Amino acid sequence: MPATLTATMRAVAVTPKQPGSARQVELPIPTTTRDTALMRVLEVGIDGTDTEINQGLYGEPPPGSSFLVIGHEALSVVEAVGEGVLSFKPGDLVVSTVRRPDDCPNCQAGESDMCLFGSYTERGIKGAHGYMGEYYSETPAFMVKIPPPLRPFAVLLEPLSIVEKATYQAWKIQERMLWQPTRAVVLGAGPIGILGTILLRLRGLEVHVYAKSPPESLQGRILQDVGATYQRVDDHPVTGIKDELGQIDFILEGTGNSAVAFEAMAQLGTNGVLCLTGVSAGNRSIAIPADVINLQMVLGNRVTFGSVNANRRYFEMGLEHFQQAERKWPRIFERLITRRVPFGDFLSALDRRPEDIKTLLTIATA
Ligand code: BGC
Ligand code: ZN
Repeated sequence: MPATLTATMRAVAVTPKQPGSARQVELPIPTTTRDTALMRVLEVGIDGTDTEINQGLYGEPPPGSSFLVIGHEALSVVEAVGEGVLSFKPGDLVVSTVRRPDDCPNCQAGESDMCLFGSYTERGIKGAHGYMGEYYSETPAFMVKIPPPLRPFAVLLEPLSIVEKATYQAWKIQERMLWQPTRAVVLGAGPIGILGTILLRLRGLEVHVYAKSPPESLQGRILQDVGATYQRVDDHPVTGIKDELGQIDFILEGTGNSAVAFEAMAQLGTNGVLCLTGVSAGNRSIAIPADVINLQMVLGNRVTFGSVNANRRYFEMGLEHFQQAERKWPRIFERLITRRVPFGDFLSALDRRPEDIKTLLTIATA
């Protein structure tokens, strides 16, 4: 029998749990079926989760595979569609959501970010290949269409969706009372901290960011340009924030450091709410002032909650806020993209440098 020639593509994969295993793999280009679209990837954002997966701390391959194609923040262009795909056409720009549902009630209701059974998969993270390759196959339910003017920074939609969910949830929780927030604190000046600050500024809050980089860093300048104050934690430790500022209505924890999460609980003001977004993949233990935190939580009706992932509703909110923020602070999002790395240098892209905000792996240019 003559061998059939299958077209192949390049992708970046890891062997989960094996530190430093990121490598290039050659895979067949997915075929388009009736109800799927073939996506050609333009660029992929790298985040802490990718780095932790490559450190062997996190990640799970698809069933039956020994490797996992990583990447969960991608801007792509529709290359081809099956005849059952009516809402997208070749040439459309797309960002895909990350999570794929299981059969729990929340997933079935379109809220896989609130999955109850835990058998969801996450592309590029847990049980499903991701987007860090030349092509991937997708169904329309998970494709978010990007208006062409957003092209230069649309790859940031996935991290933006994370903070869209976090803030939406916080405001939803606070419907428990009369709540008129005026002051927010954001911990961390990575993409989550900066994008979170932008959303909070759009909501009209006074925002104070505490992070590691110096105030004159790009992170510090972007934050000040959107009207936030910026303090370096070396000079202004988290444990002193409430004495410095007074009543704090909302805290967004975006450092991913679990010790900071507990310090933040003790900084929250009366009736305040703290949202934790960091996935701490280690197993560190620390001593905490349990009585003090407990007493404050109770006496001040405080709430601490966690927020993970985002369903497509939050991606759609992100599209709206991209436009609002661009009108207020032109080209603000492009400033977050601090490094574009060609495909062949993916190892350098996975290597985080202190001055990086968002690093992109460029896969195709048009
Ligand atoms: C991703 C989320 C995901 C989470 C946990 C984050 O980096 O942005 O979509 O749910 O990791 O795996
Ligand atoms: Zn579920």
